[in-house]
Amino acid sequence: MLKGTATACPNHPGVEATVRCKQCSKGICKACVVPGATGVFCSEVCRDKHALFYQRAQEMDGKSRSTALLQARKFLTTLIVIAGVLFALGFVATMVFIPVLTPIVETVRGIIGI
Ligand SMILES: [Zn+2]
Ligand SMILES: [Zn+2]
Repeated sequence: MLKGTATACPNHPGVEATVRCKQCSKGICKACVVPGATGVFCSEVCRDKHALFYQRAQEMDGKSRSTALLQARKFLTTLIVIAGVLFALGFVATMVFIPVLTPIVETVRGIIGI
């Protein structure tokens, strides 16, 4: 039954390896399978490695997504703040600021010599 290419379980030489470890792709028999949350593995070491890898990949995915969202929100907030400040300045300048600001600007101009 077992010929050249057919893989035998490394732990059970007479038994055909019907399952592949998801981490190291080693062939194993059903008796040797270590089931994990992310698949089947040849050993607990492989299971833990894969779980860690999977967890990190998901964390990175989540992080990059939330960062993009955060940046978009920051950008929007900045735009709103700038618009608000410009509006307030424009409004206030027509009422109060110009009479106060003009002499200051003229003084500064006089100092600089423009
Ligand atoms: Zn493995
Ligand atoms: Zn086995």
